[in-house]
Amino acid sequence: MAQLLDGRALSRKLNQGCVKPAASELARKPGLAVVLVGSDPASEVYVGRKGLVAGRVGFHHVQITRPVETSQEELMQIVKDLNEDPAIDGILVQMPLPKHLDATQILDSIDPGKDVDGFHPANTGQLSQGRAKFVACTPLGVMKMLEGSEIPLSGKEAVVIGRSNIVGRPMAMLLEQAGCTVTVCHSRTKNLQAHVERAEVLVVAIGRAEHVPGAWIRPGAVVVDVGMNRREDGTLCGDVDFEGASERAAWITPVPGGVGPMTIAMLMHNTLLSAKARQ
Ligand code: NAP
Repeated sequence: MAQLLDGRALSRKLNQGCVKPAASELARKPGLAVVLVGSDPASEVYVGRKGLVAGRVGFHHVQITRPVETSQEELMQIVKDLNEDPAIDGILVQMPLPKHLDATQILDSIDPGKDVDGFHPANTGQLSQGRAKFVACTPLGVMKMLEGSEIPLSGKEAVVIGRSNIVGRPMAMLLEQAGCTVTVCHSRTKNLQAHVERAEVLVVAIGRAEHVPGAWIRPGAVVVDVGMNRREDGTLCGDVDFEGASERAAWITPVPGGVGPMTIAMLMHNTLLSAKARQ
């Protein structure tokens, strides 16, 4: 039976044991601004959680909420004001944005020195060279979780399913930099099962409920499930069949309680880094 990679417990330890004490030593509280456009229920929950944790670790926290009909110019102006605000160290614009807005232009307009989500091309470009100032929170959280359980990565066969700019791509780069041999799978991949069966480290970020059957998991594998899906009965689940995979894997993340809390912990970590650099 697999051991749990308990993101909830580790994130608490990092937030309360590392980030909060370090933040309290700074002359000025680290400042995090979260911008939410529209009223997507999942986004409202994510933004609420980020604010809650920011408060718990002693950050100055601002939430800017705007209606769905907000224009590109208005949102660009909000980001510009936050870029210039000396009390703000980190800016996060919650994705997805309403369809009429150009998310790429908005993300590109964030000061790379305040880009605590790590989505700016300056940061993703530097990540490809192994020297990013800010690494995207979800893949960084996965790496911290593997490190926290002292899981060796060098020389391992890693398979990442998903190639999004915010999860799959940076995840693959980090695993490669940690010494893994990495295969990236996506919707065009032929014979996904064959790739999964080879994986000693499997990271799944697709967004399809229980898409990877437990029977595909290589015995002794490390399984990281980034997916966050809602079943028809309203309960949450990941992209991997948790019950089946637990019988074969050595380590596995639960959903919820795995990658999600680590993502928020890394947002706090990045905001603290930014605050330290700016003070
Ligand atoms: P995304 O942008 O929609 O990307 C999904 C990726 O999965 C794409 O690369 C897509 O391939 C691939 N894919 C889709 N169907 C597939 C299939 N049948 N077989 C293989 N690959 C397939 O999603 P994302 O933003 O990366 O997020 C992925 C999941 O992680 C979602 O459930 C999201 O809610 C969750 N998430 C969780 C956290 C957290 O903190 N827990 C953070 C971020 C995301 P193509 O590129 O070919 O289309």
